[in-house]
This record gives sequence, structure tokens and C-alpha cells, in this order.
Amino acid sequence: MLTDVWQNFLSIVRQEAGSRIVETWLKAVKITHWNSEEKIIIIEAPNTFVKEWISSKYQQLFQTHLARLLHVDTLKVTFISQTEQAHHEDHNKNAVSMFSLPKKVIIPGKVKNALIHKTRKNYGYLNPNYTFDTFVVGPSNSLAYAAACSIVENPGDQYNPFFLYGGSGLGKTHLLHAIGNAIQKRDSKAVVFYQTTDRFINEFISSIRFNKIHLFQQRYRMIDILLLDDIQFISNKEQTQEAFFHIFNSLYDARKQIIFSSDLFPREIKGLEERLCSRLEWGLVADIHKPHLETKIAILKRKAQVHNEELSDEVAEFIAQQAVSNVRELEGSLVRVLAFSSLTKQPLSVDLVRKVLHREPDEKKKEKINFDRIASCVCKHYSYRLSDLRSNSRAKDLSFARQLTMYLMKKMTQRSLREIGGFLGRKDHSTVIHAFDRVQENVEKDNELRLTIRRIEEEILR
Ligand code: ADP
Ligand code: MG
Repeated sequence: MLTDVWQNFLSIVRQEAGSRIVETWLKAVKITHWNSEEKIIIIEAPNTFVKEWISSKYQQLFQTHLARLLHVDTLKVTFISQTEQAHHEDHNKNAVSMFSLPKKVIIPGKVKNALIHKTRKNYGYLNPNYTFDTFVVGPSNSLAYAAACSIVENPGDQYNPFFLYGGSGLGKTHLLHAIGNAIQKRDSKAVVFYQTTDRFINEFISSIRFNKIHLFQQRYRMIDILLLDDIQFISNKEQTQEAFFHIFNSLYDARKQIIFSSDLFPREIKGLEERLCSRLEWGLVADIHKPHLETKIAILKRKAQVHNEELSDEVAEFIAQQAVSNVRELEGSLVRVLAFSSLTKQPLSVDLVRKVLHREPDEKKKEKINFDRIASCVCKHYSYRLSDLRSNSRAKDLSFARQLTMYLMKKMTQRSLREIGGFLGRKDHSTVIHAFDRVQENVEKDNELRLTIRRIEEEILR
């Protein structure tokens, strides 16, 4: 009977608070005892952290729904944790959370080695191609580069933490690995650990699920150099922030070097706890900008060398001049050009580059773009049916979706205005012109809409 109550409770929580809560927090939780006379129910969590989390956040939810499901007016919910009971002596009674472990965790050598090994084996992989040697320095990244070099000289010293900030594809990950590789080369014993924030979050969540938080904590505390990539993803992840906060403090206190990359400044990361935000800014914040033409040319030449190719100044300049906004795209262009040249056995020339980089969308893709495809993608995005688009309803949102459909049809196909109007049940083709102008006008001033349109276009081209 308790199992049924629990299952019903979970499905209510799913509806009310979302299934993520159930997946993350309530999977390993159970009712262990129900005293119908005293009206006390005991809920057991796999560890203290989960216990505290659910009791502080979801107490009310438990109270209300369990009372209802057990047919009582009032109910006393008591939360206990397995680990709390099992390791009672080990625990610091004053600790507010599982994460505030005593500073010095004494770990036997064997366990430590095993943990380090596991750390390295799992994610501590440093990309050997991302080194300082292959990183081209220009005005756009010289500050970040200089700081990175200085960190290699004296890790944990002056620039700690180091916060590397810059747009996507501008070389942040490359620099992180370069620092890691260089430090590892100087000191093969140093525990250098590169981790993406995404993985950090997943690893943290799974450590809670499987009740391995201590191990998780210990692994991170043994690191000498922590490289945490794309820290902006920690936004709004309260519990991960909490865990990370303690890891940060313990590494920082031990003067271990911590390096972050992010495409936002700490202050711009939404839903970032103040105390963590201020720590990210404690050390040096350095930014990387978009490269100038000269730097782009130098990067192209360096990258071509990696592929054992030589790029003439003229060709490099021509590729660099194409409208590419970051180094990753620049590299993408180069790779396409090199591949084309080698597959078709044509020399690397400006003409060839022009051919490769200015190509029309694939014929295949073009064939797929027809009225049905466009209409169905718009419908999918806004949850309408084709008959809605074809109807005469003037409901505001629907009218806009209809106009957007016309806009995309005009933009993405060669068909006439009359045909477009006809497809949507409009006799007068001036409706299409009006729709096109209206959307065009909005696109210019509305970033959100621009993004929406790009998404729908991508979907159409998929
Ligand atoms: P981010 O992490 O900032 O999004 P990456 O570090 O992944 O960017 O860089 C994208 C690609 O561009 C990588 O292949 C990287 O090697 C290359 N790259 C970026 N900046 C440079 C540079 N200054 N010199 C050489 N390669 C670079
Ligand atoms: Mg990156």
C-alpha cells in the first residue's frame, strides 16, 4: 500500500513540479515507515544532501499530497538519510550540507592513486593538438595568451582563478588545453584535469543518484590544475553551484590553479549565485576578441601546415576575407577547400576557393524546399495545422504565422506571388507582398524573431 501511495505521489509531483525533480531527486527516495495513529511518515533519502535538498525545497509538496493520499488531515513528515545513519560518527553535526566536508580529507595512498587514475582516464583527456605552438597570437588574443603563459610558469600564484572570456569559436578551449598540456609537460606528476561544465553537471547529478558524492568531492579535491570549460552552463543549476562552490574553496585555499572559460562575463551569467560570481572574478578576467584579417591569415597558414599543405598569401587572404565570424568557421572553410582540392586534384587557387565557398545550397536540399515543407515547419513551430494557415481566421498569432509562411515561401523558393497566395487560399497576391514587407520590417528590429526564423529555416533545410 505504501508503494502505491509513493507511486501516486510521484506522478502528482511530475505533473506539478516537472519530471526532472522526480528523476534527479526522488528516484532513490522511499517511504520507510507510516504510523497511522501518530500520523507520522518517514521518508528516507539516499544521503544527507538529497535529504536536505528535498526537505528544504519540497516539504510542502510532501505534506499536502501525502496527507491527501493517506486520507488524513494533518501529517508529520520526517526526512532521514541512509548515510546519516550509517556513518553517524563520521559526520560533522554542524555541517549544513554534505559539501562542507572537513578541509583535510585523509585518503590512503592506494585509493588516491586509483582515484587519480580514474580522473585521468575518464575526462582528464587533454587534446595534444591544442598547444601554445599551434595557437596564433594577435592583438585579439594577446592578453589572454600572455596570462596563459604566465600561469604555466607559476600555477596557482598570481592569476587565480583565471577567467577566459570570449565569443564562440575564438580559441578558449584551445587555450585551456594549451595551458594544461604545457603544465603537464613541465610537471608530469601534476594532476591536470580538463572538464566541460556540462560533464561536471552530469557527473555531479549521477554522483547524487548513486550516492557517490564523497567520491565526487574527493576526485575534485585532488586536482592540481582544474580547467573548467564553458562555465556559463552552470547558470540556474543551484545544487551544482553549491557543490562547485565548495570544491572551488578547497582548491583555492590549497593554492591550486583554477581556470574557467565562458562566453559570458561572470556578471552576465544568469542565475549564478552571488558568492560564486564574485569568486569567478577574484583573479584575472581576460577576453578574446574576433581576430583581425592578419591574424586570420596567420591562423589559416598555420592550420594548413598542420594538414601538410602550403597556402599562398593570396589564397589565405581570400579565404580570410570571406564573411566568417569566428576561427572555428574559418577552419571549416579551410578544411572544405583542402578537401575539395585534394579530392578533385586541383591546385589551391583563388578560383577554387571561390567555387568551394560560394556554392549554392545542395541540389538535394533545394528539391526538398517546397510549399508543403515550409508550411509544415511553420505549423510545427507554432503548433498550428495547415488548415489553420489556410483559414480566414484573423487571430493575431495565427495571422502572423501565416504571414511568416508567405515570407519564407517568397524567400526560399522561386515560385510566384500568385502561387504562394493560392497555396494558402488567398486570391489576391498583394496579400503576399504585404505579408513579406511586414515580416521583413519586424525582422530588422526584433532579435527574437530573427532567431525564430533562423530556427525554422534550419528545420526546413534539414
Ligand atoms: P571556443 O572554445 O572559444 O569556442 P575553440 O578553442 O574550440 O573555441 O576554437 C575553435 C577552433 O579554432 C579550434 O580548432 C582552435 O584550434 C581554432 N583556433 C581558435 N583560435 C585560434 C588561434 N588563435 N590560433 C590557432 N587556432 C585557433
Ligand atoms: Mg569551447
